[in-house]
Amino acid sequence: MRAFVITGPFQGEVVDVEPPVPGPGEVIVRVERAGICGTDAEFFTGEMAYLHDGQARYPLRIGHEWCGVVTALGAGVSREWLGRRVTGDTMLGCQTCHRCLSGRQHLCADRFEIGIRYGRPGALAEFLPVPVFALHVLPDEVGPTLGALVEPGGNALRAVRAAQVGAGDRLLILGPGTIGLLAAMFAAAEGAEVHLLGLSTGFARSLGFACHTEVPDLPFDAVIDASNAARLPALAVERVEPGGRVVFIGLAGEPSLVDTRVIALKDLRVTGVLSASGGLAGAIERYASGAVDPAPLVAATIGLDDVAGALTAGRDPDQPPKIHIDPSDQTDWEST
Ligand SMILES: [Zn+2]
Ligand SMILES: [Zn+2]
Repeated sequence: MRAFVITGPFQGEVVDVEPPVPGPGEVIVRVERAGICGTDAEFFTGEMAYLHDGQARYPLRIGHEWCGVVTALGAGVSREWLGRRVTGDTMLGCQTCHRCLSGRQHLCADRFEIGIRYGRPGALAEFLPVPVFALHVLPDEVGPTLGALVEPGGNALRAVRAAQVGAGDRLLILGPGTIGLLAAMFAAAEGAEVHLLGLSTGFARSLGFACHTEVPDLPFDAVIDASNAARLPALAVERVEPGGRVVFIGLAGEPSLVDTRVIALKDLRVTGVLSASGGLAGAIERYASGAVDPAPLVAATIGLDDVAGALTAGRDPDQPPKIHIDPSDQTDWEST
């Protein structure tokens, strides 16, 4: 099968690899659609932290935002899974340690992460092996585009839940990338008044959100930092209302320093968010009901042959942020 393989910094190509064989408790998914995100771009450039501490190494097969159809079953998997459309959790805990058994399998020390950690292959390929415990069934209303937006949606939904915003609350989101925009959509669906802060916010504005290049002089009940700017976590803590909530889901390339005295003196609730795991089901529900429609976030759907270019292309802030891949699209390949 065809798969996109990164062999070193700025070196990636489509390679013919052995198709996966399902292990016990696993299924094989024919990938309908996969997204790429900032993590994938960092794997391509070599900046991703896991490359430097041994949690990941080249050659790498990326892709952790995906959906597809179950086409093969490993030993012990119910036949009911065959033919189902699914997406799944990136985080694959060992299922036996204390964290896994207490509902924190996404934080398991020995976890694999699909397309990210310890060599677990990703979804930028025709077929993907996935343990059945990680699967989520997609209803018909959640087609390929929405299905591949469930993983970033789960991350954003967890951030919005931690911000605890609803009707009558004012939320500030720092960073108008995919996660920031999805968080804005989920929070608006809950009735919150949403403001987005970014250097350029042309696309976010086109979605109807209030956008700013400087924090407006308003009381914010909650602030979500979905940026990669090291100075913004401190700004979030400074600008949120006393008694408010601050959520950190963005990661900067250097330490983001925060004065914890401000957190104590303002009686803040501060939450970090890693992974979509606990938000996947909720994201599927909201997409299926139409409460949130993230389809406008997708700028283009390309084939595997165009992935390397897409990973290095800078984003135009007036355009949608997300690039999707259809692994069955071989247009360029056939024409060369
Ligand atoms: Zn991602
Ligand atoms: Zn575990």
